[in-house]
Amino acid sequence: MPYAYDDQNIFAKILRGEIPNKTVMETDHTLAFADIQPQTPHHVLVIPKGAYVTADDFALNASDAEITDFWRSFGKICTKLAVSPDQGAGYRIISNAGEDGVQDVPHFHLHILAGRPLGRMLQAG
Ligand code: AMP
Repeated sequence: MPYAYDDQNIFAKILRGEIPNKTVMETDHTLAFADIQPQTPHHVLVIPKGAYVTADDFALNASDAEITDFWRSFGKICTKLAVSPDQGAGYRIISNAGEDGVQDVPHFHLHILAGRPLGRMLQAG
């Protein structure tokens, strides 16, 4: 059963160049850009250029080339931002999916959050 992809979602529009973005990194298969409402000093969204709705959709249905490119890009962005615990103070990645995950934009994305202490992983409720 394919995941239903809405090509009118805001990240699809960014990928088509219909909406501007502050690009952090771009490769053949991946785009990373600044979140428009940053929650932390560094708040970068990493998205595949392919039409995938959630992390599980991407993991199950993307090509090996897309998956490799996505995760290598993620690593390079951490280096570029100097947030890896190897160089800096660390980060958190989040990927919201579906209703319980409170996913607003139905195009798979990783949030990279960094630049201040982030507290515990989840708040009650
Ligand atoms: P999520 O709830 O995980 O789907 O988060 C969607 C994220 O996309 C939010 O953090 C928004 O601030 C961000 N966002 C929405 N529109 C834009 C945009 N045009 N450019 C950059 N980030 C955006």
